[in-house]
Amino acid sequence: MSSVNRIFCIGRNYAEHVRELGNEPSDSCVVFMKPASAVVAQGQVIALPNGIGSIHHEAELVVRLSGGGRQLSGERALDFVDAITLGLDLTARDLQSQLKAKGLPWERAKSFDGSAPLGDWRPRDGLELQDLQFQLTVNGELRQSGHTANMIFSVARQLEIISQLWALQAGDIVFTGTPAGVAALAPGDQLELSSAQIGCFRWSCN
Ligand code: ZN
Repeated sequence: MSSVNRIFCIGRNYAEHVRELGNEPSDSCVVFMKPASAVVAQGQVIALPNGIGSIHHEAELVVRLSGGGRQLSGERALDFVDAITLGLDLTARDLQSQLKAKGLPWERAKSFDGSAPLGDWRPRDGLELQDLQFQLTVNGELRQSGHTANMIFSVARQLEIISQLWALQAGDIVFTGTPAGVAALAPGDQLELSSAQIGCFRWSCN
C-alpha cells in the first residue's frame, strides 16, 4: 500500500444526505481533515470507539493526488488525480450533533483513530469521476447507494476549493462526500463497499 499523506474530507455534498441530517444546502462545501492514523486497510477490523454514542458509516468515493500545488483550476486539478478507491468516513454522530450545537470543531467526532477505512487503490485510467456508482451493504443489507453525478460539488470543484488553502501534494487523498442512507454500526457488523468500476472492499467491526 502506498502511503497516504493528508486526508481531506468533503461534507454536505449530496443533497439527499444534507437533508437527512437536517442541514441547509450551502454554496460552499464543508472541508475537514483526518490524521493518517485514521486509515483502516480493507480486510482489517474496524474498532468502533466505545462510550461516545452512535458511530455512523458514510460511504464515499476517495481520490488520490500525484501533486498539484496551490490555486488550481478545477480542470487542471483533475490532471493530478492518479488513483481512486472507496472509503468510509466514520462519524461519531451523537458527538458531532453535540459539537455542532455548540459551534465547536468536529475533530473528536470525525478524526479519531480508525475513522477512515480505505479500499485498495486502482489507477484512474481516464475514468469519468462524475459517472461512478457505488454502494455499501451491512450484513448483506443495502444501506447506501450513490452515484457521483449527484454530487453538489464535483471532484474538480472540491480540488479547486481545497487548493485555495493547501498546496496539493503527492499522496494527498480526498473523501468526496456521502450519499443518503447513513446509519449506525454495531460490533459484529460485516461491511461490503463496492463499485463495478472500482472494486469490492470488506471490513468487519468489533
Ligand atoms: Zn463524509
